[in-house]
Amino acid sequence: MNNIVYKDRHVTVFQSALFQTNSTVVEMEDLVLVVDPAWLPDEVMAISNYVDKIRCKRELFLVFTHSDYDHIIGCGAFRPDKVFMSKAMAENPEKELRLEEVLEFDDKYYINRPYPVVYPQPDFTIFRDAAQYRHHSTKMTFYLTPGHTADSMMVVVWQIGLCIAGDYLSDVEFPAITHSSVEYEASMNKLLAIHDRNWFTRLVPGHGNLSLSINDWLQRRTDSLSYIYAVREYITTGVAMDEVALWSRYHFPLSQKKVHTENIELMRREYEQGLWTWRPAESTGTNTELTEQDDQE
Ligand SMILES: [Zn+2]
Repeated sequence: MNNIVYKDRHVTVFQSALFQTNSTVVEMEDLVLVVDPAWLPDEVMAISNYVDKIRCKRELFLVFTHSDYDHIIGCGAFRPDKVFMSKAMAENPEKELRLEEVLEFDDKYYINRPYPVVYPQPDFTIFRDAAQYRHHSTKMTFYLTPGHTADSMMVVVWQIGLCIAGDYLSDVEFPAITHSSVEYEASMNKLLAIHDRNWFTRLVPGHGNLSLSINDWLQRRTDSLSYIYAVREYITTGVAMDEVALWSRYHFPLSQKKVHTENIELMRREYEQGLWTWRPAESTGTNTELTEQDDQE
């Protein structure tokens, strides 16, 4: 099992059969970087074997974009020289829970892994934006992008114009907001600044197809924000979302409906706490909204 969905001189992206989860291997002159190696044992071992084959004497760095269990599940199959993650991920109070989720998954599907299931131990933790790590001629820049989870971050490999975005900007799923829609929105706005400072040309999302043009990831960013605003409008005004449009845009409604419901619940709590307000003046117009509501009654 060796599902490589993208390859060039520096970048190889493996995609799992599960949830189209992407694992990225970056080869630079002086290091090999592995980001979020995932899911099934054969898939993780294929990545690990690939790294062993290409590595030669280069150092191996492992980066985790966030602590969701599908992204840390392959950690124990690697013996990296350095591990990078956000400070929030290093200090995540729910580490045990994440590991239990891996064990539960493996138990449910009778999966044995030929490596230990462990929570990643950091050597380098990122606690501020634009933190840089240089290794000889390679420069990596890290950005904190909370919202999907509290501990999410993105990494840019500067020389090759590559942004590895974690669970954002997917073309197969709308935002899964387990932490904060307000911070999610801020992270989407931060993305523009990340691009302007780094000029990345390729972006790897946690799930789905790579984004290989600025127009494409800008469209994904707009789609993500539109989704958040549509849920907020629904919560504030009671006007039902256009779910037909939602499910024609995203094609896996059986698993994503649960995510959608949880997003609504989380954003409803945020609204009750006054964490955001809906400003109809910024939408398409109050009158139209009232008409739509009337139509449904
Ligand atoms: Zn995630």
